[in-house]
Amino acid sequence: MNLVEQSSQTDRGLVLGGLSNFLIDGQWREPISGSAHEAINPANGEHLGNLGEATAAEVDAAVGAARRALDTPAWGQMLPNERARLLWAIADGIEANAAELSRLETLDQGQPLRVSAGMSVAGAAEHFRYFAGWCTKLDGRVPSVSRRDAMLYTQRVPVGVCGLITPWNFPLLIAAWKLAPALATGNTVVLKPAEQTSLTTLRLAEIMEEAGLPQGVLNVVTGAGATGRLITEHSGIDKVSFTGSTAVGREIVRASSGNLKRLSLELGGKAASIVCEDADLDKIIAKNIANVTNNSGQVCGALSRFYVHESIADEFIARAQEQLGSISVGNGLDEGIQMGPLNSFEHMERVDEMVQSALREGASAVLGGSRMGGDFAAGSFYPPTLLTGVTEQMAVARDEIFGPVMPIMTYTDEDEVIARVNDSEYGLSASVWTENLARGHRLAARISAGAVRVNTVSGLDPAAPWGGMRASGWGREMGAEALEAYTEVKATWIGLD
Ligand code: NAD
Repeated sequence: MNLVEQSSQTDRGLVLGGLSNFLIDGQWREPISGSAHEAINPANGEHLGNLGEATAAEVDAAVGAARRALDTPAWGQMLPNERARLLWAIADGIEANAAELSRLETLDQGQPLRVSAGMSVAGAAEHFRYFAGWCTKLDGRVPSVSRRDAMLYTQRVPVGVCGLITPWNFPLLIAAWKLAPALATGNTVVLKPAEQTSLTTLRLAEIMEEAGLPQGVLNVVTGAGATGRLITEHSGIDKVSFTGSTAVGREIVRASSGNLKRLSLELGGKAASIVCEDADLDKIIAKNIANVTNNSGQVCGALSRFYVHESIADEFIARAQEQLGSISVGNGLDEGIQMGPLNSFEHMERVDEMVQSALREGASAVLGGSRMGGDFAAGSFYPPTLLTGVTEQMAVARDEIFGPVMPIMTYTDEDEVIARVNDSEYGLSASVWTENLARGHRLAARISAGAVRVNTVSGLDPAAPWGGMRASGWGREMGAEALEAYTEVKATWIGLD
């Protein structure tokens, strides 16, 4: 069925074909301003709908609703086990609508159905289930104070109104990373998805309402950076959790200084893959390739600089070329597709310019290296690209690529490779490949990053803290650490005399 017809018939927020609505104080409202962003299918340029640009008045209304909802009996006094059931019901709602959500994410973001269904939708449900479990375990402490006249207990209380701002690479999943812990800990929310990919967030909001989320607890507005700025500068917002580029992260630090908002920043990355001389190439090349091509490389933890020991570099390159060349690229809705388009033409130009600059500076494209023509020209497709002869002076080795590109460098010894890997403004993640367990531990301990993986590229799990060092951000999402990000510690003294 045509997505536009299907959605406009059934949904309140997601009015495709027309202008999508905002969720404010439990009501789906038409945007005041006529200005809009187009939702476009990156696989073929098809127009999917228009997204409103929230004005200051609408952001004010959303923040006001979220503030009022904080202390309502329906939310502020909801019992922990009731909140757990609500989060669990949201997960059930996501799963009940999994086919529609996956299709919508593929249409809007471009990721193949196997990624939207297996990673985005399934992962979003898992996050709500994981944090449902925490609702009944948010215990305080009774610290051992050296007093006879008083005792003390601590509690974890909500921070308040949270402004959640998400990027375009995993819209549904990253919304869930933020919503699940924010709600498990009793906060209320104003959520703004990226202007390129807002559709599944709007649909998720409808599902959350249907699951019984009280009015005003979740408010959703759409728009671009200007709307984001209205949120980060708003004095009624107590905390901002942002996932996006490091440049915008820096702006958010400045914008949020007015009322000293608490900040969680999940920013860019430049994950290194260190392939040691004793790595098992039969096992590891497929894992590296799967990582590079997952969501067309538009993954913050994507491996995007490869340090291969010089003794095995030729073999690694030959085998990587063969496997990378066999990846099936196409419209993510089609059967068997392993890699879809990049999210937009604008982003494709950026990836291509980075590759072209490496080629101008002396790198060679063993595979790929320019945008795809023919049947692919209507979409923003970029081919899997293998670059050799890369040096650290090249942008492709230093900056985030966010595309399916493998820049290969070689190294000679451990001290040297660790120094080169750590010489980066980013510190999000890295992988080490070796059959020697002691070497794996030794290198992992010396890599300066929020997540290090030995002989694996997996690492995303609701229970695993995720976040970076230096320009990769502040704080951690997921795991028990996310609870700290969304709560304040409150100490209460009780006089005993
Ligand atoms: P972006 O920074 O351009 O935009 C992210 C969000 O911020 C969007 O919703 C956008 O509308 C909004 N925004 C833009 N300018 C703003 C401003 N001045 N104030 C407030 N909000 C503003 O990032 P993007 O291009 O959408 O996403 C890609 C980036 O996200 C990459 O750098 C990637 O590494 C990063 N990312 C990081 C993680 C992580 O966990 N560390 C995960 C996914 C993506």
